[in-house]
Amino acid sequence: MTSKIYSADKTKYKQKTVSQRIEALFLNNLGKVVTRQQIIAAATDPITKKEPENWHQRLSELRTDKGYTILSWRDSRDLANQEYLMPHADLRPKAAKRVLPLAACWESVLQRADHKCEWQEDGQACMLAEGEKDPIGGGTVKLTPDHVTPHSINPDADRADPKQWQALCGRHQVMKKNYWDSGSGKINLIGILQSASKSQKEEALKFLNAYFGNE
Ligand SMILES: [Zn+2]
Repeated sequence: MTSKIYSADKTKYKQKTVSQRIEALFLNNLGKVVTRQQIIAAATDPITKKEPENWHQRLSELRTDKGYTILSWRDSRDLANQEYLMPHADLRPKAAKRVLPLAACWESVLQRADHKCEWQEDGQACMLAEGEKDPIGGGTVKLTPDHVTPHSINPDADRADPKQWQALCGRHQVMKKNYWDSGSGKINLIGILQSASKSQKEEALKFLNAYFGNE
């Protein structure tokens, strides 16, 4: 018996949701390398045999929402492209329970946003529309509410105020969580570095080397 799980095990994970099946796969393989193919095999619906298109997002949520540590080739040079590893099953303390806008408030946010993702990066809005295909992350765009300034939250007042909310696609919900630790209100610097491109990482490394007086 090896540590690898082959596609013959496709129906091994019978949990109800994609997220639960991926979680079970990692918990069964603590400290072991898990490949993209294994994740897709485990995430595949045990009854319909349908491969989920959003598995990558579910994986990100295991990190950001559930608090698992799941390393990828972005975090560890020991991992090859498309390899992942859960070193232990410890959970980081969870952020406070999610507050959502009131229905009427969310409706006016969606109208303002023209039912498109409002994420801004370098002055460019994402603009992916509800129901569209996400050309980068894959999957179908579903807009969900994001609290603009989670550290200043005043739950009762904010739930009715459209200015406190923006509509984000799933990919940018995950990205925002990487950039911003809503539990402490601090920027998640490591999350930013992990999601940065190689050239941005090189730039950061250059900065740190200069800062610490390395050559
Ligand atoms: Zn977006």
